[in-house]
Amino acid sequence: MPEPRVVIVGGGVIGLTAGWELARRGWRVTVLEAGEVGGGASFGNAGWVVPALSDPVPAPGVVGSSLRWMWRQDSPLRIAPRADLGFARWLLAFWRRCNRRDFRAALAATAALNRRTLALYDALAGAGVRFEAYQHGLLFAYRDPKALAHDHRALDLLRPFGLDPPPILGGDAAREREPALGDAIVGGFHLPDERHLRPDDLTRALAERLAADGADLRPHTPAIGFDADRSGGRVRGVRTPGGAIPAGAVLLAAGAWTPGVARLLDRRVRLPIEAGKGYGLDYAPPPRPVGAPIYLHEARVAVTPLAGLVRLAGTMEFSGLNARLVPNRIAAIARAGAAALRDWPPDPARATHWTGPRPMTPDGLPAIGLVPGWENVAVAAGHAMLGITLAPATAEAVADLLTTGDAPPTLRPFDPARFGRSRRVAGRGPGAGFRERGRVNGRPVAADDG
Ligand SMILES: Cc1cc2nc3c(=O)[nH]c(=O)nc-3n(C[C@H](O)[C@H](O)[C@H](O)COP(=O)(O)OP(=O)(O)OC[C@H]3O[C@@H](n4cnc5c(N)ncnc54)[C@H](O)[C@@H]3O)c2cc1C
Repeated sequence: MPEPRVVIVGGGVIGLTAGWELARRGWRVTVLEAGEVGGGASFGNAGWVVPALSDPVPAPGVVGSSLRWMWRQDSPLRIAPRADLGFARWLLAFWRRCNRRDFRAALAATAALNRRTLALYDALAGAGVRFEAYQHGLLFAYRDPKALAHDHRALDLLRPFGLDPPPILGGDAAREREPALGDAIVGGFHLPDERHLRPDDLTRALAERLAADGADLRPHTPAIGFDADRSGGRVRGVRTPGGAIPAGAVLLAAGAWTPGVARLLDRRVRLPIEAGKGYGLDYAPPPRPVGAPIYLHEARVAVTPLAGLVRLAGTMEFSGLNARLVPNRIAAIARAGAAALRDWPPDPARATHWTGPRPMTPDGLPAIGLVPGWENVAVAAGHAMLGITLAPATAEAVADLLTTGDAPPTLRPFDPARFGRSRRVAGRGPGAGFRERGRVNGRPVAADDG
């Protein structure tokens, strides 16, 4: 019997780790990537592997801070005004989730999925997939003692998942641990088990290993449609500009672009994923060495030391799916670095700049599971601030799902069916009557019944 063939749409960290897990289970893997493999949100992010930071973005208090910050160009969170009904709905759904009950439920679901994260990263390294990675822990640093006390108390929520809150460090003790911290820091705490890695090196290593093991990786090859038996809810192939590729199963892993790809398959599928743009500033060489990752809490800026550079990453900007670099937001990150780190220049021109779209769902949980109405199409997208962290556990679970047909229990809270299905195309089988003209990554495409 020939090996089953899976076509993965999206060559970011989620698509590549899923490819790795599926190949290990005997699937022939094809990865379609519209641009460069690893060139989306997975490229220039902070690279933290942080199961202890399993808290979802919608949280108590976020409505107030987002309303306070939303009009400011240089705030950690910016919601650019735009006339888009879909986004208005998304925002309302997000705000509705900013309560204690939903927050705790999403935290528990994410922490449970994260239980295997570190072991799976170890297994990847054990299998010879080599990339730049460190086990230096993570230091939270604060300028406001009240914020420090508040965040430290919140760590208690993670006790059931095996995290014992570490002691609070005073300013001097924090500086002793990390001499790069300046005098404005009044204290912090250190999480010893968290890790970090160089994200573009991880995707490079995964892609090389997949190719060496016989996978078919196709950069600059967007999925532009699907050949499907719509009454039976099965996809037979994925269309590309160079022709169709037969598929026994399909995984949609196109990050913030996933809703557009899913619409090519079935306009009734609801996947409310918005781009939460973040920025990265690379200082190479760094103005001064930094020993371990630091979270500058007030500014929501991550400081990541990597070989030959220090990366400052942060901000969340809802302005649609675009790669515009907004100078005010870049300047705010540089200023946050200068305010917290000793001898750090406030001038952003000292760094190279990058932006990438975090794939954000309104409930703060990724969508992982079968696409409603389709029996051989799964989705793994919407990993928000935690895609690097959650990638191996997501990949393991989704590979089990496609191989056995059963979703592991940890995936239940992530079921894409929780968003429902649009009734706009009513009364017939999956995708019936579907015919749409759309655009994927700016490219006009036509999709129709295959
Ligand atoms: C500033 C910043 C800092 C971050 N820091 C961290 C961190 O420290 N730790 C952490 O865990 N997470 C972090 N994240 C989040 C993390 O980067 C994302 O969650 C993760 O990269 C998402 O991976 P992905 O594979 O789903 O999406 P992507 O990496 O965006 O990959 C999706 C791919 O799909 C491709 N694609 C789109 N349309 C098509 C199509 N039609 N056909 C084929 N391919 C298509 C795109 O070109 C893209 O390459 C950060 C994000 C940002 C922006």
